Amino acid sequence: MTDNPMRILLVEDDALLADGLARALRQSGYLVDIASDGKTADRWLEAESFDLTILDLGLPELDGSEILHRLRQRRQRTPVLVLSARQALEERVRLLDLGADDFVVKPVALAELEARVRALIRRGQGSPDSSITLGRLRLDTVGKRAWLEGNALELTAREWAALEFLSSRVNRIVNKEQITQALYSWEDDITPNAVEKFISRLRIKLEPAGINIRTVRGLGYFLEKPVEAGNAAD
Ligand code: CA
Repeated sequence: MTDNPMRILLVEDDALLADGLARALRQSGYLVDIASDGKTADRWLEAESFDLTILDLGLPELDGSEILHRLRQRRQRTPVLVLSARQALEERVRLLDLGADDFVVKPVALAELEARVRALIRRGQGSPDSSITLGRLRLDTVGKRAWLEGNALELTAREWAALEFLSSRVNRIVNKEQITQALYSWEDDITPNAVEKFISRLRIKLEPAGINIRTVRGLGYFLEKPVEAGNAAD
């Protein structure tokens, strides 16, 4: 329950898909506006402010990459999640250059879409420098880096993603499937076994600083809120 619901612009000309996605996102508490053609989307984006835009590429009147181009030309920072057909994946470098923040491949897996929506909104909210501080651990969610007491932490991409995911849900249990979704990447299939492995590597890196990732057998993991040590020197 947020007092201030996040507002999402969903740009999708496939009415069935748009309705399905909008329904799911509304159930999760977002306000969703649907634009079913490119010109409408461009007009709305210019006139209003959205916390996130979910953008299809193939659209009537104005295509998605042109909308993205115009949005960034106007220096609007709204995070953009691109809905992309599998065959358009080669375009992703160009789209990243244009200012896309993330991608979801069609057919859309709802849980994955929602995980990405949450991540982008969180990133967007925090202003350009959005950092999470947990005891002696500090995360820069824009630069995707972490420090323990000012020392940069060496993390693999997966470890980083898992850490960011867990850190944004302190004291809340997340299961392996959620972690896998948060880590979703283009090439990889991540097995539950692999999740266990990199969580345990992450744990080893964090433990010296008193940051604990707890296992809840049969349920998943949570990052324990560090005890505020006051100014205790050690
Ligand atoms: Ca389309």
